[in-house]
Amino acid sequence: MTVIDLRSDTVTRPSAGMLAAMTSAPLGDDVYAEDPTVNQLEETVADLLGHEAGLFTVTGSLANVLGVRALAPPGTEVLCEASAHIARAELGAHAAVSGVTTRTWSAPAGQIDLEQVRALIAPDLGPYFVTTAAVSVENTHNFGGGAIQHGFDALADLLDEAELPLHLDGARLWNASVASGVPVAAYASRAAAASVCLSKGLGAPVGSVLVGSAELIREARVWRKRLGAGWRQAGVLAAAGLYALEHNVDRLAEDHANARLIAAVLADAAPGSVKPDQVETNIVVADLAATGRSVAEVVEAARAEGVLVGGVGATQLRLVTHLDASTADCRTAAQTLARLLTS
Ligand SMILES: *Cc1c(COP(=O)(O)O)cnc(C)c1O
Repeated sequence: MTVIDLRSDTVTRPSAGMLAAMTSAPLGDDVYAEDPTVNQLEETVADLLGHEAGLFTVTGSLANVLGVRALAPPGTEVLCEASAHIARAELGAHAAVSGVTTRTWSAPAGQIDLEQVRALIAPDLGPYFVTTAAVSVENTHNFGGGAIQHGFDALADLLDEAELPLHLDGARLWNASVASGVPVAAYASRAAAASVCLSKGLGAPVGSVLVGSAELIREARVWRKRLGAGWRQAGVLAAAGLYALEHNVDRLAEDHANARLIAAVLADAAPGSVKPDQVETNIVVADLAATGRSVAEVVEAARAEGVLVGGVGATQLRLVTHLDASTADCRTAAQTLARLLTS
């Protein structure tokens, strides 16, 4: 049985071209900053995102830990949306590793809500209350269904005024950029620290890049090593990232079209489960509440038919399109789910 895996855009395998780039990359020891391919990736991504310097990391979670801790000293707080990856999906790392707490606002599709952010910002009032050190925004928003942050510039303006740094979790920033037409640098240059994933829609097997000022990245490099995540001939992996940046950015538009196709089929089969006009990028979240089916039941039944999807939350299914799922695959997956939801 051929399996169509739409659990995440992390499941892609390196293509033949990407593997060839990996095996022919010039290498060195990155702990000595001597891997030319890693250096090239870090410079390329920093340039693309409008920052001075970059740091290649094994995961997006690590890039976020290093970015947030550079902006927020122990005992301070970062504000973010309640379903942000840094709050929900990094296993408490910012508290466990960096001594940073979060307070959250909550908004549909994980959007920025300026009034809530404004009300949450806590200035330094002496030894009584936790001080807000930074605000973090996820663009696109993963658990928000791949939504683009439409209030991004207004928030950046507010934070400039409040003299607070912005952290950008840009795991899927290229998806936001391709869908909105806004260059990645227009988003990322407003942030003091930004992370981007190469292992999501871009299709590299491993890796993220943190960007910021030269000073911030120097410090992040020390902390990366301190946490045991310095690496040696990492150029094998950086080469995949460079290949992905060259070949796999524009094609994200296909993933977005495939997500809209899935949304249309599901909305037809289970009206109200998905709002197709709210599917902006490569993630479809379908709410099964009105179908009388449980998430576990549908996930299992789909698996039995070779379609892998994920559950997020009590009543929600998540499907993520990517470069290893063709339009035909996405149509088949959507039709299989539609049948399971209506039979
Ligand atoms: C995937 C993801 C990350 C990083 O995940 P890793 O698995 O640690 O690479 C960070 N933020 C968001 C929004 C993500 O979707």
